[in-house]
Amino acid sequence: MATELIVKSTKLMLVRGDITQQKVEAIVNAANSGLMGGGGVDGAIHRVGGSAIVEECRRIVSQIGRLAAGKAVITTGGNLPAKYVIHTVGPVWRGGGNSEGETLASCYTESLKIASDKGLTSIAFPAISTGVYGYPQDQAAKIAIDAAIGYLKDNSTSLIAVHFVVYDGNAYKIYANELDKVAA
Ligand code: ADP
Repeated sequence: MATELIVKSTKLMLVRGDITQQKVEAIVNAANSGLMGGGGVDGAIHRVGGSAIVEECRRIVSQIGRLAAGKAVITTGGNLPAKYVIHTVGPVWRGGGNSEGETLASCYTESLKIASDKGLTSIAFPAISTGVYGYPQDQAAKIAIDAAIGYLKDNSTSLIAVHFVVYDGNAYKIYANELDKVAA
């Protein structure tokens, strides 16, 4: 079972755990367009990170408006172990015929771009859109891995570690299975 993959000088790694506890420079939030917090990953990040995050989100929304699906912005990590949170809005699954795949891939590439532009060395992603947004987990895992590999192949980056953080054992197996396929 593959849990790691090296692309140029960046290591992709599968991790089972809580995204809020990751000791990386930036964690990615599966946010919603209003950037004001919510359930799932979003709720956990705001709970642990504290009010500095929501204050910065409010300033961002007042400047650029609501964040479209597939886009990403960066804020402080507040009280989190991570220094930064990159907030991205995943697509809501509507059966797959509404460019959900492209939008989800864009969440990953936009987040990687922001991290690279800031010179960060490590980033951790949750399984964006696979909770209340309803994206089928196996399809979402393939997109996450393919998008990260594609970005790293096509761009130079400061990132040396890209982690996929999953909460439960089933999601872990799904990601490991996808990593097996690309490693084969
Ligand atoms: P979305 O609204 O984008 O679907 P959710 O936050 O509802 O996002 O869920 C995304 C995924 O993150 C789900 O697979 C869920 O099991 C997982 N998840 C929920 N809480 C955490 C956490 N604290 N750390 C890592 N993953 C989590």
